[in-house]
Amino acid sequence: MNDYLVRGLALGGSVRVVAVRTTQTVEAIRVAHDASPISAVALGRVATAALLLGATIKDQQQIGLQLNGDGPLGEVYAIADANGHVRATCGDFRVETPETGPQKLAPAIGLGRLAVIKRLHEGEAFRGVVPLVDGEVASDLALYFHQSEQVPSAIGVGEKLSAQGISAAGGFLVQALPNVDPETLARIEQRVETLPSLGELFALGVTPEALLDRLVDDVEILARTEVGFHCPCTREHYARLLCTIGAAELQTLTEEQEITELTCHFCSAVYRFDREQIGALLYGARMWDEASSHEQGEGEAEPAGADGPGDDGGTGEA
Ligand SMILES: [Zn+2]
Repeated sequence: MNDYLVRGLALGGSVRVVAVRTTQTVEAIRVAHDASPISAVALGRVATAALLLGATIKDQQQIGLQLNGDGPLGEVYAIADANGHVRATCGDFRVETPETGPQKLAPAIGLGRLAVIKRLHEGEAFRGVVPLVDGEVASDLALYFHQSEQVPSAIGVGEKLSAQGISAAGGFLVQALPNVDPETLARIEQRVETLPSLGELFALGVTPEALLDRLVDDVEILARTEVGFHCPCTREHYARLLCTIGAAELQTLTEEQEITELTCHFCSAVYRFDREQIGALLYGARMWDEASSHEQGEGEAEPAGADGPGDDGGTGEA
């Protein structure tokens, strides 16, 4: 049973609905990073929420969702694309479970902000930022929709844990389109509040479609997309990244290290370059040095892995 997302309309087209099951996706992310239970929950919720967000935008390549708090999890960041691919990372994959349990994120996230980064066109990005409500992801994202996009929204993301890992995960998003009467919204809110835990529902085999039927009437599904964990990183990407550190730095690397290792933050894949391979990159690094010295005065080039969700965060560690 593959994970999938459905999106559509309800109540005669006055409400937009999205639901997704992410059980395998979140478990795959947990396994890739060998994440502790609470780190896995954080990665999973942000990944699920990024997929929900991705379903609300048109003609966009990617969308990034970032929770940045002062707790031990640090930055939790997921990037989803229009094809249902998602990847996620956080500041510490092995945060210990606090007394409040692995499913209460607030103590591990802390105080901070939520950012949504949409890649509109090549090089152009939209960024919306709101303070964190409670760090549990759903209410934080609801505040974002309310404040940044002026769209009243009900959101849920949840999971069920087993001794082995993530046994169920998923989420939903219900959004009022303009001119919805307040009573309709109140009724939806009521149903959301009386909903059992999402993790339990998905564990029982409730489908995304059935979940939506529990939340709103007259659901009309318009599209269904398979979703899954996927990182587009490649060895070539990291080779290029090495060239951008400059010829002098690379030269030092070949002298000091037998093997240079770069780890992808989004999938924990490790790319190894030996002395000979680094030496072969020196030519590329000199070309890069030359090119960037010509560019000086025209503003800095976009730093690798900074904010753009189009950039796959290639900030490897040597
Ligand atoms: Zn990767």
